[in-house]
Amino acid sequence: MPFSVPQERKLVTELPGPKSRALQERRVAAVSRGAGTLANIYMDHGSGAILVDVDGNQLIDLGCGIGVTTIGHAHPEVAQAVAEQAAKLTHTLFTVTPYENYVRVAEKLAEITPGDFEKHTILVNSGAEAVENAVKIARRFTGRRAIVSLDHAFHGRTNLTMAMTYRPWPERAGMGPFPGELYSVPISYPFRDGLTGEEAAAKTIDYIQTHIGATEVAAFFAEPIQGDGGIVIPAPGYFAAIKRFCEDNGIVFVADEIQAGIARTGAWYSIEHHGVVPDLVTSAKGIAGGMPLAAVTGRADIMDAVQPGGIGGTFGGNPVSTAAALKVFEIIERDDLIGEAQRVERAITARIGDWAERFDVVGEVRGKGAMFGIELVQPGTTTPNPEALTAVLRHATANGVIPLDAGSWDSVLRLLPSVVISEELIDDAASVLEEALATR
Ligand SMILES: *Cc1c(COP(=O)(O)O)cnc(C)c1O
Repeated sequence: MPFSVPQERKLVTELPGPKSRALQERRVAAVSRGAGTLANIYMDHGSGAILVDVDGNQLIDLGCGIGVTTIGHAHPEVAQAVAEQAAKLTHTLFTVTPYENYVRVAEKLAEITPGDFEKHTILVNSGAEAVENAVKIARRFTGRRAIVSLDHAFHGRTNLTMAMTYRPWPERAGMGPFPGELYSVPISYPFRDGLTGEEAAAKTIDYIQTHIGATEVAAFFAEPIQGDGGIVIPAPGYFAAIKRFCEDNGIVFVADEIQAGIARTGAWYSIEHHGVVPDLVTSAKGIAGGMPLAAVTGRADIMDAVQPGGIGGTFGGNPVSTAAALKVFEIIERDDLIGEAQRVERAITARIGDWAERFDVVGEVRGKGAMFGIELVQPGTTTPNPEALTAVLRHATANGVIPLDAGSWDSVLRLLPSVVISEELIDDAASVLEEALATR
């Protein structure tokens, strides 16, 4: 892919620079402080894995706006597809008068999601909206009330999905009351529990049976690789055992692939690494190169349990976002971006895989594809070290590297770079992060 910005870090002012600081003053006067920011560096344009700020600094993006610009910033072919569609038709509302782009995205999702059964799709605007719709669909299909999600899960910020999200602060604090019949159950977290997948699944299942009752559960929601929860990857065999339990008890298994799906982990969907076929899959973030689009895809009998008019929404699957998604699918296949994600995994592992041995504050480095977590601890323990994460983030952003935070204790350094990031950029970014780790 030709990049319009050289793929290198280059600082021409301090960070944030003078133009960013001026914008920050206006922002404080105009924008809710509830929309908190990781770094107050205002961006102007981007290409590939590089963001260029309003002062002309080139920064290495290790976050992709939380896993959205997986194929790289401002991909010219996606930009062209968006422009052409915007000039042709921007809106009819699919549920009033339909159009082909929506159908084509649904056909493609049926092809790339796991499982070789008949699948149907609904398109919506955001990840949270996809999760909400999956809840509605699973309840309608099963006629049951209870929804199960995992400890450390993140499922969104609407009232329902906020209540399915694990962490009280800052996501939920002071914003209840929340809807009922939502249950958080123990997950497999190998670094913290030391259990095999089978042992952890037995704990999860016992919790469901003793606190909820298996036959009350409509759906089991799981991020196959947790994002905001701290790149928690359940042990091998965990999801296979959970899926068997769901099948035995008529529970809909939903893979929330909003962060880990669409090529990011070196597979179309991260549940593939666990060898499990889910009943429903949610997609969003990386699906349309930065345009708002999300989907619920799954078993046709489950998806069609809802009466016509029972699900939908004004902007869902709009012509422009679906045009972007179709181009993203084409680029991922043509440029083998799943293979590129595997290349990124090898490059990151080779560069930072020994950090737990080299730095006292690093407890574990773990990840798949272009999705990594570095769990920071008090030296010699597994006690979370959020102060170290704050220090690393401050050093990184001041030096032109934008990683992410994660984890229920705010102690996991999260890397979600574009799958087109070069080995040179990975090396340069790692050197900046190492400077901070070495001083802790
Ligand atoms: C981001 C995210 C959501 C919510 O998506 P929005 O588009 O922000 O509503 C839900 N689930 C997971 C796993 C996510 O990472």
